This record gives sequence, structure tokens and C-alpha cells, in this order.
Amino acid sequence: MASKTFKPDTPQPTELRWFNYRQNNSGGSFVKNDDVSINVVIQATSLKEANRIAEDRAGVYFDGVRKGYDCSCCGDRWYRPWEEDGMEIPTTFVTIEDWAEDTAQDSWEPKSGESAVILYYADGAKTVYYKD
Ligand SMILES: [Zn+2]
Repeated sequence: MASKTFKPDTPQPTELRWFNYRQNNSGGSFVKNDDVSINVVIQATSLKEANRIAEDRAGVYFDGVRKGYDCSCCGDRWYRPWEEDGMEIPTTFVTIEDWAEDTAQDSWEPKSGESAVILYYADGAKTVYYKD
């Protein structure tokens, strides 16, 4: 059976995207557990929503130097992503899960057995990827 799907010309506001919060090792060390790690990756419909989820669900915080949490010479531990539309993932060839596993294994930090990438899905699920 042949079929033909007609899609809208412009992206729909409900389209889910992935936003990566890459941790800066302010004060000389990273925080690595099952909630936050080097990469905290949030699935959301907009950057604004992702920022809120990062703070509410993952415990990411912004403006850490100004608030007195982070080292002023190292800078903030967390920054809001500058990509309005999120990451260019998934693609035809790479799923977000493939990317997370590759990123976890390719990182110089963390050490073996530590969390490296955490995916926060919009439906409430969370997957933690550890370095082998
Ligand atoms: Zn410092």
C-alpha cells in the first residue's frame, strides 16, 4: 500500500528536543552522581522549559558565582545552553541513546564506574550512563 504523509512547513511547538547542560569543574572538581554529571541532557519543547526542568528535576543551578556557590575564578558550574533549538540529535543515523553512550565512553572525565551522561526524558524517565 502506498502512503503519503503531509507535514507542516514549520516545526510544531510541541516538538521535543534535547538540551545539553555541560558541567564546568568550578573549584577544580565535578559533581558526579545519579542526578547530575558532566552532561545533564534534558528533553523539552523549548530552551526555557528545559532550563526549568534542569533546575527542578536535576538540581542544576545557574549564576552560581553570583549566588556564592561557585569559584569566581573558575566561573559558574552550570550555564544555560545557548542553542535555542537544542542539539542536532537525533539524526537519521544517531539516536540520543547512541550519543549518550558514546559521549560517556569518550570522556576523559569521569573515572571508570562514575556517571557521565544523564538523559532526562520528558515523560519523567531518566537514564544514567556510566563510564566503563
Ligand atoms: Zn577557581
